[in-house]
Amino acid sequence: MSSIEPESATTIIREPRVYLVGRQAIDDAALARFLADEDVSHWTTDTEEAGETLVEVAGRLCYKSYARPRPGGNAAYIGHILEVGHGSVLEHAVFNFIITGVSRSFTHELVRHRAGFGYSQLSQRFVDESRCSFVEPDPIADDPELHKIWLDTIAVCQTAYKALADGLNARFKSIEDKTLRRKKAREAARSVLPNATETQIFVTGNARALRHFIEMRGDAAADAEIRKVAIAMLKALQEESPNLFGDYDLVDLPGGGQATSTAHRKV
Ligand SMILES: Cc1cc2nc3c(=O)[nH]c(=O)nc-3n(C[C@H](O)[C@H](O)[C@H](O)COP(=O)(O)OP(=O)(O)OC[C@H]3O[C@@H](n4cnc5c(N)ncnc54)[C@H](O)[C@@H]3O)c2cc1C
Repeated sequence: MSSIEPESATTIIREPRVYLVGRQAIDDAALARFLADEDVSHWTTDTEEAGETLVEVAGRLCYKSYARPRPGGNAAYIGHILEVGHGSVLEHAVFNFIITGVSRSFTHELVRHRAGFGYSQLSQRFVDESRCSFVEPDPIADDPELHKIWLDTIAVCQTAYKALADGLNARFKSIEDKTLRRKKAREAARSVLPNATETQIFVTGNARALRHFIEMRGDAAADAEIRKVAIAMLKALQEESPNLFGDYDLVDLPGGGQATSTAHRKV
């Protein structure tokens, strides 16, 4: 490694960015047709959020309970589902996120969450990583000596990546298809990129899966970066859909940072 001179212009990221980019919409006319076909003349709900409405519609379908709603509206209805643990009903509410400014270590942990999630992640085979950014963990960033070790190592890795990508492009020059040649070069060169390499991921999750993720990864025992993302996702979801996610609290941790807690564990 020491034979390669590192370059200095490394871009460092310390905070993830979470965008809630998609949610569902109700087809009011179709829902009205269904209710009319069921001879339900007067059912309404008091939420305007489509995911919460769909959860209630799906739950009420099970018991044909549109005509006899208990008091308390949608919040009480979903609260009861959480209490009794009928989690499958929550799978009908779906949210779409874009997450950037996160490391490959983060996404490696994120994609372990299989049930109820869909992922599309930036490809290191197709995208040139010569100018990529790197995500620095807070405890390293907070210590000048450790920060320097980290930064020097990152710079060496990035320089090595560029040298390898150039060398491999030359080595594969007989491959006429430029895209294929670059892909073969990048897929091999990326082997020297560290876990800290920034990535982007599109994440779709249903409310049940998202709740499980928030519980596991918002916990004090979880990795600090994924905990930050879980909390950012929770905040966006609480604003979007308080009846589905409002039962979570944030607690301050003794060493700094926050963790999530709720009375309703995995449902
Ligand atoms: C603090 C922490 C430390 C961790 N450390 C490690 C580690 O050292 N090494 C490691 O490999 N992982 C580790 N993990 C990851 C962990 O083991 C899980 O893979 C991850 O949290 C996803 O959880 P899950 O499988 O419940 O989620 P999902 O895959 O989303 O599954 C959700 C739920 O669906 C059900 N389910 C899903 N698939 C099946 C199935 N095939 N059969 C039966 N039921 C199923 C289960 O009830 C499961 O809980 C860690 C996680 C945390 C939070």
